[in-house]
Amino acid sequence: MCGIIGYIGKKEAQPILIKGLERLEYRGYDSLGICLQKNNKLHILKKKGRVEDFKRLPLLANIQGNLGIGHTRWATHGVPSQLNAHPHTDCHQNIAIVHNGIIENYQLLKNVLIKEGHKIVSQTDSEIIVHLIEKFYHGDLEEAVLKTVNLLEGTFGLAIMHKDKNNIIAVRRGSPLAIGIGRGEMFLASDVSAMLEHTRQVVYLKDNQMAVIRRNSFQIKNLDGQKAEKEIKMIKWNLDQIEKSGYKHFMEKEIFEQPETIKDLLRGKIKNNTIKLSLNIEPERIKRIIITACGTSWHAALVGKYFIEHFARIPVVVDYASEFRYRNPIINEGDLVVGISQSGETADTLEAIREAKKKGAATLGIINVVGSTISQAVDSGIFIHAGPEIGVASTKAFTAQLTSLLLFALYLAQGNNLKIEKALILELKQLPNQIKESLANHKEIKALAKQFYKSKGFFFLARGVNTPIALEGALKLKEISYIPAEGYPAGEMKHGPIALIDKDFPTLFLAPRSATLNKIISNMQEIKARKGETIIVTNDPKRLKRLSHSVVEVPLTSEWISPIINTMPVQLLAYYIADLKGCNIDKPRNLAKSVTVE
Ligand code: GLU
Repeated sequence: MCGIIGYIGKKEAQPILIKGLERLEYRGYDSLGICLQKNNKLHILKKKGRVEDFKRLPLLANIQGNLGIGHTRWATHGVPSQLNAHPHTDCHQNIAIVHNGIIENYQLLKNVLIKEGHKIVSQTDSEIIVHLIEKFYHGDLEEAVLKTVNLLEGTFGLAIMHKDKNNIIAVRRGSPLAIGIGRGEMFLASDVSAMLEHTRQVVYLKDNQMAVIRRNSFQIKNLDGQKAEKEIKMIKWNLDQIEKSGYKHFMEKEIFEQPETIKDLLRGKIKNNTIKLSLNIEPERIKRIIITACGTSWHAALVGKYFIEHFARIPVVVDYASEFRYRNPIINEGDLVVGISQSGETADTLEAIREAKKKGAATLGIINVVGSTISQAVDSGIFIHAGPEIGVASTKAFTAQLTSLLLFALYLAQGNNLKIEKALILELKQLPNQIKESLANHKEIKALAKQFYKSKGFFFLARGVNTPIALEGALKLKEISYIPAEGYPAGEMKHGPIALIDKDFPTLFLAPRSATLNKIISNMQEIKARKGETIIVTNDPKRLKRLSHSVVEVPLTSEWISPIINTMPVQLLAYYIADLKGCNIDKPRNLAKSVTVE
């Protein structure tokens, strides 16, 4: 993961780099550092910890210059420490680099470099890169970088500077990097949010490209030496979207943004009761769909399976991207492989898509970030347009993924001439309002959080299309509050997990009106019989009130819309519990957003 930022221009680079690192901190936050060039010297400051503390370091006063690079780290090799923080330098502090990714053959290269006399001081895989550049440098930095990257195996986004050069070199293989174009100044960042306040004109580097960035210009080449096209994109996000706007946490803001994000997503996609998606696929040719994803997106994929199989009658397999890519998966004619990723940079999902393509499958991405690597790798894509998601625990991107999958299922059904109920289309149009209504329960859920935040564990149970929401509820709670939580299909609970139930291990049921409501009611009785506390989220409160003191009412919708509606209370419960526990909600321990490493 990690975040990279770079600046070259007339201004003092330090505040620009630090602000950029603040915006990038969601990508990694165990340590950080900056390097600035002044009077043909490199000035470096690194530290374990967060940007907030870094900003207060008195030593920062000595770090000045109009050209610099910065990095916020999410350690893969070597503990989080000042020594392992980036930037790393060569033996003589002439060259500095920051790196995002993993160098798989670093040990071998390190052994050679040490034999040759290089002093390698950190435990990272990254440091060897700068020593290789040092080894190959005889006045031409570009040439030394090219020779170096040719030896590297693995993934990298790199920013490189030299004490005597008026440029920053950026190289990309697998880890995202974009160049921001200003007037008499240029920026470089892992994510455009870090440069939005300076420019909206960006060029995304493609894999195996290198850029030489100067104050007034930049060149892009492919690593084989050929000149590459520069495709300038205009970013439409505004600054408000990446700030907290009065909310305590980004996660809270992003939860409450969901009526708007879904409204934006639906815009223009339903016309005359027909689903309009501009996809370059032929539904009648698809014989099987494989959806591959990680984490929360994997839960969205599971809901997608229910949607597609029900509406379009096409068999769906859901697979963890990290498993799919290494299993030599079987791809047949007529297979469509769908990758879901908020950032569009998730390393496992990207490789799963590449593997599927290699084997001849058609591919489709469901992605938030336009211009991201996965969006460029797939044959066609659905952009979920949820805007920047900063909280590490995904919320608004998840419901936007679910809504996109429902639209996609209906689109496939349409293409195969299957009937879609008009009532469902009408409900879809009402979805933003229904989400708003579901969020209106927040006070009630906060009160439940107070009652249950000391629980030693939690179950989330549901049936059918809501089962993946139970898994997502458990994931949300454990990732931000560190309370052990399990999500299960309600019918599966008696086959083992029920052993955990006692008075301090409550169960949240998602129990909308459906053909299996009676079955889930029996499961509630089974929990109650073992003195387990229950919270019931339902759109049929009259029926369920006698079964629990804690009933959360959500708006009545069709069963197919209910997973999106039911996501609101589970997100809110996790959020309020984590807040009561005083957890660092937007940056939970050990986690980072946009998982660009394996
Ligand atoms: N592998 C590098 C390190 O551990 C970079 C990790 C990252 O991309 O965050 O320092």
